[in-house]
Amino acid sequence: MDVYLDNAATTALDPEVLEAMLPYMRALCGNPSSIHSHGRRAKVAVEKARKCVATLLNVSPAEVFFTASGTEGNNMALWGSVAASSIDHVITSSIEHHAVLQPLEKMRQAGQIQLHWVRVDAQGNLQYDHLEYLLKTNERVLVSLMHANNEIGNLNDLARIGALCQTYGAIFHTDAVQTIGHCMLDFQTLPVHLAVGSAHKFHGPQGVGLIYIRSGTQVSPIIDGGAQERNMRGGTEHVPGIVGLGKALEIAHRDMQRDHQYIQGLKDHMIQRLQTCIPGVVFHGTSAHAEASLYTILSVSLPPSDSHDMLVFNLDIQKISASVGSACTSGSHVGSHVLQALGIDQRRGAVRFSFSKYNTAEEIDYVVEQLRMLSGAPAQYKSR
Ligand code: PLP
Repeated sequence: MDVYLDNAATTALDPEVLEAMLPYMRALCGNPSSIHSHGRRAKVAVEKARKCVATLLNVSPAEVFFTASGTEGNNMALWGSVAASSIDHVITSSIEHHAVLQPLEKMRQAGQIQLHWVRVDAQGNLQYDHLEYLLKTNERVLVSLMHANNEIGNLNDLARIGALCQTYGAIFHTDAVQTIGHCMLDFQTLPVHLAVGSAHKFHGPQGVGLIYIRSGTQVSPIIDGGAQERNMRGGTEHVPGIVGLGKALEIAHRDMQRDHQYIQGLKDHMIQRLQTCIPGVVFHGTSAHAEASLYTILSVSLPPSDSHDMLVFNLDIQKISASVGSACTSGSHVGSHVLQALGIDQRRGAVRFSFSKYNTAEEIDYVVEQLRMLSGAPAQYKSR
């Protein structure tokens, strides 16, 4: 059996999305900046996708910009808003994605900002009192806190963070790469200034993302050389990708209730099977608590063993794709900065499993059985 449980890294393209994209790779080619009919048709397709995304996120099309990735969107939000407004302080957490941590660290090193770290507890829960303290004691602040953590699935309360930012006059950026397309998000109501998504996390194509910039929020372009995206991002638009992003988000919202229930069922099943088959298994962060974590992610450690540093490779040999940390760190032997921040002993063999609508209960059973054998748990724990 060939099992893909790394959907937080990337998801399979939905066939409906591919159908929507294909014409724009064939006869409907055209550069949206060209004035001829092919160009005009491409432009219409981009604007149609923008309108679709805006409607689904309950914002204005003028507040939606397409990018080449979630990484680019986060860079644009951070570099762009620090360059455009008089931000001196940025508040973030140590468990953000590197697409947030690295630009912020560069800005800090260049003396552009002072960085402040909101405390997280051993479960990865944000300490909201500490966030309020940091907001109270600093001025001209940008807050950058993700919606769902990509390694442990913890969900931050965007409404609560946004309300605190409003009280203290801070700009709020959220990396919502793991939740746009998986949660219903209404950015008209949520007090968020900047939010970032990425199509390939919700069965859209790789290499295309989006950024929501609330009207009135100052952001300078970070890519110059063209007037595309209303002067906010130079470079010819990835038309088939943008069409695919729009279609993927439409499908994600259309089927969200059903898919959420199904995927949560798979995750619950895996938790239950792991607890039954492997004594001493642990779950990281809040990933085993349905209300507090994203339904697509489960972070697991097996009981301590010398062989667990090879766990993901051993799973790979059994044709199971999962990851240690985020896609960018797996295989690089640096371990996970998120698990490290939570004080987790990574020699226990931490694995992130992430699910999609294409996974099945049979696949979960197969993976749990492989884990049981790798953990050395006796077969009597095997209940089927
Ligand atoms: N932010 C988070 C939370 C992610 O999980 C990822 C990808 O894993 C990114 C940003 C980067 O997105 P992309 O792969 O589209 O650059």
